[in-house]
Amino acid sequence: MKASPKITKVSVTTFEHELENVGKDYNTFNMVYEAGSKLKQQGSILQIHTDQGIVGEFPAGGQGILDVQQVAEYLIGKDALARESIYNDTKRGLRHGAMLGVGLIDVCLWDIAGKLYDEPLYRLLGGEKKPLPAYASTLHGDENGGLTTPQDFADFAEQCYEMGYRSFKVHGWGLARSNIQREVDNVLHLGKQFEGRMDLLIDPACEIKNFGDALKLGRACDEAGFFWWEDPYQDGGVSQFAHRKLRQMVKTPMLQTEHIRLLEQHVDFIVADATDYVRAGAHEDGGVTGAMKIAHASEGFGLDVELHGPGPVHRHIMSSIRNTNFFELGLVHPKVKTTKAPVYLGYNDDLDGIDSEGNVYAPDGPGIGVPLDWDWIRAHQVDEGVLAEA
Ligand SMILES: [Mg+2]
Repeated sequence: MKASPKITKVSVTTFEHELENVGKDYNTFNMVYEAGSKLKQQGSILQIHTDQGIVGEFPAGGQGILDVQQVAEYLIGKDALARESIYNDTKRGLRHGAMLGVGLIDVCLWDIAGKLYDEPLYRLLGGEKKPLPAYASTLHGDENGGLTTPQDFADFAEQCYEMGYRSFKVHGWGLARSNIQREVDNVLHLGKQFEGRMDLLIDPACEIKNFGDALKLGRACDEAGFFWWEDPYQDGGVSQFAHRKLRQMVKTPMLQTEHIRLLEQHVDFIVADATDYVRAGAHEDGGVTGAMKIAHASEGFGLDVELHGPGPVHRHIMSSIRNTNFFELGLVHPKVKTTKAPVYLGYNDDLDGIDSEGNVYAPDGPGIGVPLDWDWIRAHQVDEGVLAEA
């Protein structure tokens, strides 16, 4: 038996970079295409160090890092392989917040385990290397001549189809200042061109103002034969009652639970008949440990779990479960090269990251399995700090 690596230090490196031809829409929440615009972004790399010299590392957003700060001291001296107790303790420690730190820490611990055993995560999880069908998950609709009309979306879907994608997801326009008819027209237009050729998905990302407008969109999805619709309106994606009601009135399967956290809330949502597909994410739902718990709970209900967003960790999880359909390759746009920081070497989650049949694959290196590009990260670094140390 290998000796357990003990956690000796938790550190964070923060970097800044710019996305080309990307801006923000009217409410500053949605990234959209904007020719010539440069959008400044900040990101971090969380590192958990051990007494064996193995370092678990994972790119993280600022909110999650604030969480990690609160429990960093607790981690010092812990057995880095004791993921279950660390999951449960950090979940308890962060219960007043969004609990994003639970996932960031857990993914670093899985990275440590993979590096210790010299195996990629999917092999530690009992998975196998297999094609993972990806959907092109678009940037939000814009007013800038990118994805501005239903024909723009249809042209982009055609481009994706020719590249090999067999599934396409719309993130629509800013509905606070637009109207539901525009969204309905888009759905019907896509349905006419692609029903039977591509699985069509739509995610209003909780932006539709009210239940009535959400219902109009749901009925359009029925008419256009959509595969799923997701987070329709401004309840925030959390009302079990409202989504059960919508499910009674709309035939198109619904994908909820992106905006609730961890295993227990997901199971409650399923038991309340409030979703068809189950959303989970390693980043939001307690890491690999948390996402696998939700995947297996969903399996027990006979339901599929759909992982939120791209990244190598989701490729490993998807390679290790039966009950799932698609890898979310996003956010993509016909006129934007990338919406991500290039922190990984030899890894591609941009539009052209698929093979000719629309698939991606889990990486084979130890742990998360893709080396971080520390030359790039150091060149863009703006801060470095130790959150806790033995
Ligand atoms: Mg979503």
